[in-house]
Amino acid sequence: MTETLIQYISDENAMCDFGKKLIDAICQVPNHKGITLYLNGELGAGKTTLSRGMIQALGYQGNVKSPTYTLVEEYKISGKNIYHFDLYRLSDPEELEFMGIRDYFAENTICLIEWAEKGVGLLSAPDLLVNIHYAKHARNIELIAKSETGRHIIEKLN
Ligand code: ADP
Ligand code: MG
Repeated sequence: MTETLIQYISDENAMCDFGKKLIDAICQVPNHKGITLYLNGELGAGKTTLSRGMIQALGYQGNVKSPTYTLVEEYKISGKNIYHFDLYRLSDPEELEFMGIRDYFAENTICLIEWAEKGVGLLSAPDLLVNIHYAKHARNIELIAKSETGRHIIEKLN
């Protein structure tokens, strides 16, 4: 089964389009637990842009804000709960305990996590790593499956 996938992303629109493909694949994979994606890449790599593409592809009409200050933004759409985290400003992982972090990784949820390394030890293990690399003005996305669910998602994308 495929463990990795690399996708060239020419511009912001292509990033949103890939977000649609990714969420479609996620929705096709049967799973009874939540699905967790760690979105990795430098500031400005496109983690939030990809998340926006995924959330809007599910039919969300509103603005998808970066959760930089709120730590998490929640979207209930198409029968799913999407939690979009940005832990960049997290100073103390204990804050995650106060938020009741474990409750976010429940059935029928999709967690998209930017700067997951700040929450090490407190977050659910990832099903999929999404590593975004700069390629001048474009980007390369590298998907790495970390679970059976992650492998199924990559399979659907191929
Ligand atoms: P991050 O969340 O990783 O810090 P953002 O998604 O907030 O990054 O910002 C990415 C920025 O890069 C946006 O201003 C976007 O317009 C720009 N951009 C340029 N090229 C691309 C590309 N190929 N994919 C994604 N974003 C791109
Ligand atoms: Mg961001």
